[in-house]
Amino acid sequence: IKNYINGQFVSPISGDYIDSISPATGVLNAKVPCSDKHDVDEAVSSAKRAFSSWSESSTKERADVMNRIADILESRLTEFARLESEDQATLLGKPVLLATKIDIPRAVYNFRFFALSILNGTEECTHLTGASQHLNYVHRMPVGVAGLISPWNLPLYLLTWKIAPAIAFGNTCVAKPSELTSVTAWKLCEVFTAAKLPPGVVNIVFGYGTEVGEELVRHPDVSVVSFTGSTMVGQRISQVVAPYCKAVSLELGGKNAALVFGDADVNESVECCVRSSFANQGEVCLCTSRIYVQSNLYEEFVAKFVERTKLLRVGDPEDNSTDLGALVSKQHWEKVRKYIDIAISDGGTIKCGYGVEPLELPHKLKGGFFFPPTVITGVDDMSSCVQDEIFGPVVCIMPFDTEQEAIKRANNVKYGLCATVWTTHLERAHRVSKKLEAGTVWVNCWMVRDLRMPFGGMKHSGLGRESAKDSLEFFTEAKTICIKY
Ligand code: NAD
Repeated sequence: IKNYINGQFVSPISGDYIDSISPATGVLNAKVPCSDKHDVDEAVSSAKRAFSSWSESSTKERADVMNRIADILESRLTEFARLESEDQATLLGKPVLLATKIDIPRAVYNFRFFALSILNGTEECTHLTGASQHLNYVHRMPVGVAGLISPWNLPLYLLTWKIAPAIAFGNTCVAKPSELTSVTAWKLCEVFTAAKLPPGVVNIVFGYGTEVGEELVRHPDVSVVSFTGSTMVGQRISQVVAPYCKAVSLELGGKNAALVFGDADVNESVECCVRSSFANQGEVCLCTSRIYVQSNLYEEFVAKFVERTKLLRVGDPEDNSTDLGALVSKQHWEKVRKYIDIAISDGGTIKCGYGVEPLELPHKLKGGFFFPPTVITGVDDMSSCVQDEIFGPVVCIMPFDTEQEAIKRANNVKYGLCATVWTTHLERAHRVSKKLEAGTVWVNCWMVRDLRMPFGGMKHSGLGRESAKDSLEFFTEAKTICIKY
């Protein structure tokens, strides 16, 4: 892998690389540039040079390039899906089918969506009434060079969700993908070149967050920072950018609750909650990890949920019948496993999953970091299993009695990313949704995304929102111009 600066693939100035080894096979998967401050300086200078012409280009010119990027990426969908699956650090990670159906199509759509959005945007204009002869209008100007940092769990999907709006609104950027999943970002640079994106508009530097990531957000010529990742790193970035008064958007972790009321359709809620708990091995920030079920439905819900969970297939990501691939790394596997010990010592019962049934895997997968979907009951809300983001295929189910109690308990964590509510009462759906402290509430569904709607978290789940309108506001400076006539 090489850095992509000013439209060229270049080695890191230090010549150092990070070995990305497949722990399952011991085979070297990729050598990722271990970039440092000097590479960031080069990349930011390149983005700064490109800014003057890109920010002056017409919306049509920008939309045309972005549509070409989308078309080329789409024509290489199968290749990118395979690379994305292989790159989840173990060669055995995200199922290929998931990358084919979700990750790569969404990356394509991110470019199309913002290309369309700039073509359809209009600006605000007001006349003061009465005798005044003043016309006010808002001129939106791009901010400058954007620093974009993304995590490993949905590598290309989340990286393009930042690059697309940044460049659509006339900024140039330097992006830093996760050091664990850099391959598809590097391949995307080929697409940029093929689509004739002017050199320097998008630059990508690879390496460790604590080194190259922090240098990027600190760089004085980076005017705006958009970060998706853990709450701990988000807090660190807030501290780093504070003295520079940069605009910062933080999309952070979650500990998302599902509230299943006694009147809910039990089969539908079980089916969807199993999906929302275990999709992408539970490694999606929006995954459900706490399920509160009204007491009258609790026993039935748990029995059906466990039965359905046991049907999930953990295994070869290349097999289309696989539901869960491997976790991203050994370190992460250890972290997830630790929470099973905590659940047991906190008096919990493991209904299925880790330690209950052995995972039956073909020989070639024996060394992979597979973790069975695990269901826990009987833990208190204050257990760290219920409070911390585990980010793996582990879910806790707890009973509740009243609506008020359910809301209070759902809100009783430091996070506020999303929640789901399961009920057939329309009034309850509105009432509960309004009271939940979460950036998105899905009622009787999960992860249905309309990119026009604000996306982001409350409390420790983040700062700011992303959507057509929110991203426009974030990636541009609004200027009011008042003219006397
Ligand atoms: P992470 O915070 O460890 O890393 C995210 C990115 O930040 C990586 O590219 C990393 O190299 C970089 N980084 C690390 N330290 C840095 C520093 N000091 N300065 C600048 N950059 C730095 O997160 P992760 O483990 O890659 O991803 C999982 C986390 O991301 C989970 O907490 C998950 O909930 C969260 N996430 C949130 C959303 C959302 O939309 N809210 C989406 C996906 C993932």
